[in-house]
Amino acid sequence: MLIIRTVAELRAHVRGLRAKGHIIGLVPTMGALHDGHVSLIAASSLRATSTIVSLFVNPRQFGDASDLAGYPRTEEDDAARAQAAGAAVLFAPSVGEVYPDGYSAEVRISGPLTERLEGAHRGPEHFHGVTTVVTKLLNMVAPDVVFFGAKDAQQVLVVRRLVRDLNLPVDVVALPTVREADGLALSSRNVRLSSADRRRAVAIPRAIAAVVEAYRAGELDVPALTARATAVLADAGLTAEYVAIADPATLEPRAVVDGPALLALAVPVGPVRLIDNTLLSPVLADSPVPALSGAGRTGGYVQQVPQSPEKG
Ligand code: AMP
Repeated sequence: MLIIRTVAELRAHVRGLRAKGHIIGLVPTMGALHDGHVSLIAASSLRATSTIVSLFVNPRQFGDASDLAGYPRTEEDDAARAQAAGAAVLFAPSVGEVYPDGYSAEVRISGPLTERLEGAHRGPEHFHGVTTVVTKLLNMVAPDVVFFGAKDAQQVLVVRRLVRDLNLPVDVVALPTVREADGLALSSRNVRLSSADRRRAVAIPRAIAAVVEAYRAGELDVPALTARATAVLADAGLTAEYVAIADPATLEPRAVVDGPALLALAVPVGPVRLIDNTLLSPVLADSPVPALSGAGRTGGYVQQVPQSPEKG
């Protein structure tokens, strides 16, 4: 696997791949790769003939300087994981390569998609940073297909809107959230949890599971559903920044779950802010649990989260 650090070298390499007729997949990451990233790289390796993994901790999407400073950086391990998962290139540019002196452009999606949920709590600048860097990466790599994780559900909606509104010539593929055995969504930030906080963090998938369980039992009232999540979190001493049930396309808040809805939450656990989500869907509500529970560690639907006490 090649490690490339400059846009010029990347472009030259991609030109060569294109000349050979390759289909190019891009997996944008901020590094500290885990099995969630690996699932995206593996999916790209199936669909594309060359997979490029970008590794760039994008300063423009961090409102919180300490979050940026503390963000884990493990490039050597990342290179090994990306290669093992089938990547052909790791593109790891410096901040100066991406944002040269005098850099002044910004790509924004304005309106509710960037203002609700994460936008309301981290500020819409977070998504402006995301759309700016994603546009730049798409221009640098010019992939046929780009892969994102449903764990960042709002990010997927924002990127799909970006691609639609700017007619960017790329397919956007979103893949299910990969979880630990106890249900916690894998995140690069999990390594910053103390062992006590790691144990408390399992309340997040359990809170989601409690909402799903109530929903499947017929509860459709949003305040009643979100109260289930809040109670499970409170039992673990956690307070959510938000627990929201919203339209899965527009993120408009719902009062009643009378169609598919996105349940999304953000929860500070010690010094780390974790997010998670699942889709509440009438179809899934009628599905037998066993049909959904044997799918291993991946799953965008929290029915796969074990509800028994944490092991070990
Ligand atoms: P990040 O490095 O956190 O910016 O994430 C890079 C990509 O990996 C994004 O598209 C994320 O949504 C995705 N991702 C992060 N965590 C997971 C996970 N647990 N399962 C699947 N994809 C994930």
